[in-house]
Amino acid sequence: MTEEIRVRIAPSPSGNLHIGTARTALFNYLYAKKVGGKFVLRIEDTDAERTSQAYIDNIFDSLKALGLNWDEGPDVGGPYGPYTQSERFDIYPKYVQELLDKGFAYECYCTPEELEAEKEEATKNKKAYVYSKKCENLTEEEKAKLRAEGRKPAIRFSIEKAQKAFHDSPIIHFDDLVKGDLHQDTSLIGDFVIMKSNGSPTYNFAVVIDDMLMKISHIIRGEDHISNTFKQILIYEALGAEVPRFGHLGMILAPDRSKLSKRHGATAVSEFVEKGYLTDALINFVALLGWAPSDGVEIKTVDEIAQDFRIHEVSSSNSIFEYDKLNWMNGQYIKKLSLDELKERLKPFLTKYDLSQLTDEQYTRMVEVTREPLTILSDITDAVPYFFGDDVEIDEETQTTVLDTETSQDVLKTFVEQAKDWEWSEENLHEKLEIFRGEFKEKGIKPKVTMWAIRGAITGRTRGADMTAILAILGKEKSLNRAKKAIK
Ligand code: GLU
Repeated sequence: MTEEIRVRIAPSPSGNLHIGTARTALFNYLYAKKVGGKFVLRIEDTDAERTSQAYIDNIFDSLKALGLNWDEGPDVGGPYGPYTQSERFDIYPKYVQELLDKGFAYECYCTPEELEAEKEEATKNKKAYVYSKKCENLTEEEKAKLRAEGRKPAIRFSIEKAQKAFHDSPIIHFDDLVKGDLHQDTSLIGDFVIMKSNGSPTYNFAVVIDDMLMKISHIIRGEDHISNTFKQILIYEALGAEVPRFGHLGMILAPDRSKLSKRHGATAVSEFVEKGYLTDALINFVALLGWAPSDGVEIKTVDEIAQDFRIHEVSSSNSIFEYDKLNWMNGQYIKKLSLDELKERLKPFLTKYDLSQLTDEQYTRMVEVTREPLTILSDITDAVPYFFGDDVEIDEETQTTVLDTETSQDVLKTFVEQAKDWEWSEENLHEKLEIFRGEFKEKGIKPKVTMWAIRGAITGRTRGADMTAILAILGKEKSLNRAKKAIK
């Protein structure tokens, strides 16, 4: 019987879903999809102080928006729930007791002050801090005395005992799915707390219990967890559980090779969405952070990527988050949107305008003629002010370099005179403007100079969407009024 592939993403809700977590979630999801396995979501909220419901909601919404729907987890349930750690607190003590009974864990009565003093001592001696183990061999009488003082014990895991029971050498190895052989000298790992004195489990312990009980077969996560993996392997072994396979992904770095952070731009999936990135583009982009398609075609849906995805081909090195590439890719996805879809998706970025000034037909045409250069949806905000209102704001450069010239003044006067008799359809305007430009050309004025004058007066800028479309959308009255206003 082949073992069922079960993977998970286990975010801590101390912030909105980070784009790096989205990539980890995606690689787990892809790994599961490829082989018909299960993708599990677990919320690791043992750190109550940093947890908030808003972050949990954001994680759910972002994963769903990216199409990373979980097969088991909060909301959808599953056989091994609850899938939120804070609802699992009554599960952990049993396993703590098991480790205590087997001698792989012990009570630690050290106060924060005592531990702080140990750490300071280590710093003073320029040594890496490792817990002194001074509570490992307390007698029952000593413990009773400490309890009588009102001290409550934390529980520590005994690294050395577990190592000796299951490994010949303190240097333990595992075969990482992404990075190959990884090893660590466990004598350098201090006996760490698995349960705090207030009864709450720590990450390294809760994660093992949950992954074990949820029958997770493969753990794919960031390489910042490699040092935890050695601790976790020893806990699995101490509990007599099967150790899952691990795969550690390189980090995602900013273009300046530092850790990706707010100062580089957006980092949370929802921030990207608010800025006008499409979730299809985002998920495609993050797939390429460490993975490359075998056919070199980068624009792909998650389903297509899943067909081609092999975890051992994922790069073991760090990836650079190129915002420029994301912008390009997002632009490609915007181009692929149907006009109807784009019309809807742009609306949140047009709230500063009174869309009721446009008929649906006019709005459709506006989107049609302004969509080409968009790389993010929010680019639309600054691309369309001249479609709204009676007047238009003229930028300074357009005023001085275009509208103030004698030629432009001449063009505009003639335009106002002639255009008042034109039939105001886009088709007709196209024809009429062609003749109009021709007449000026005969006077030695280049067609583009003629058009600059009109564009400058009507839009206040020197560049923008197709001029006949703009005139048609604005209508004769507004167009001519703006042209008249630009005449001195
Ligand atoms: N809650 C942990 C984190 O967000 C999960 C780590 C893991 O995947 O084991 O970093």
